[in-house]
Amino acid sequence: MGTTIDITDRLFAGIRKKSLGKIYDGRRFKYYLLVFLLISLLFTSQCVGWFDPISIATNAYAMSIHPYGIHLIDGLFGYLREIPFIGNLFAVIHKGIQSVLFAYHAPFFRGHGILLCAGVLVISFGMAYRRYWCKNICPMGAMLALFSDWSFFKRQVSSSCTSCGLCVERCGMGAISSDGHGTMEGECVLCMTCQKVCPENSITFGVRQPTEQRHAVDLSKRAFLVSGITSAAWYLY
Ligand code: SF4
Ligand code: SF4
Repeated sequence: MGTTIDITDRLFAGIRKKSLGKIYDGRRFKYYLLVFLLISLLFTSQCVGWFDPISIATNAYAMSIHPYGIHLIDGLFGYLREIPFIGNLFAVIHKGIQSVLFAYHAPFFRGHGILLCAGVLVISFGMAYRRYWCKNICPMGAMLALFSDWSFFKRQVSSSCTSCGLCVERCGMGAISSDGHGTMEGECVLCMTCQKVCPENSITFGVRQPTEQRHAVDLSKRAFLVSGITSAAWYLY
């Protein structure tokens, strides 16, 4: 899912308005969503799949895009096979593609349109904010972020940093403090883009003893409780 979002975010770069990214920062929401989902599991509710990135990506690709892709290819080769003299050649190519890449019969699952819409919705956030889903909604990201403090592999910035702001601008996760030195370790996905763009070679990634996060997750107790109560209410409903 992250790779798909990265690709589509690049395509949307031209229409994305930079100013919007500075107005809204809802990254705490993903922690509340995680609480909601964990409590809902206690009540045997099965709504996790609607927010799990692996589930969304698998469903969107396997149940929606894949069948449409097959029908498109079949339709195209059905047309090409009718071309005089060279039609048989396309028939052989079509058979080869079918046997190597695609199933012979790709069923359309009931409700595949809803799954496709869910995938499109996740991707479409990129028109307004870069990596919006990963930063603000993804419960898997929230869970990994909670454990990131125990990670040994972390971003480190040397004293040669001039606070030019290039890494801050290029970090898709918004994980770097405005002076370029601090890292929200819970948000960093270790893509190392910041290291590549740093003109001073000030950034390294290496083993560091677990320390307290410089920018810890700041959750409000009230919102935390609301998440839990909403989850219980969801079940009772
Ligand atoms: S790109 Fe390098 S020099 Fe510039 S703020 Fe980031 S770490 Fe500092
Ligand atoms: S590695 Fe650097 S650019 Fe990538 S998410 Fe972490 S801080 Fe941001």
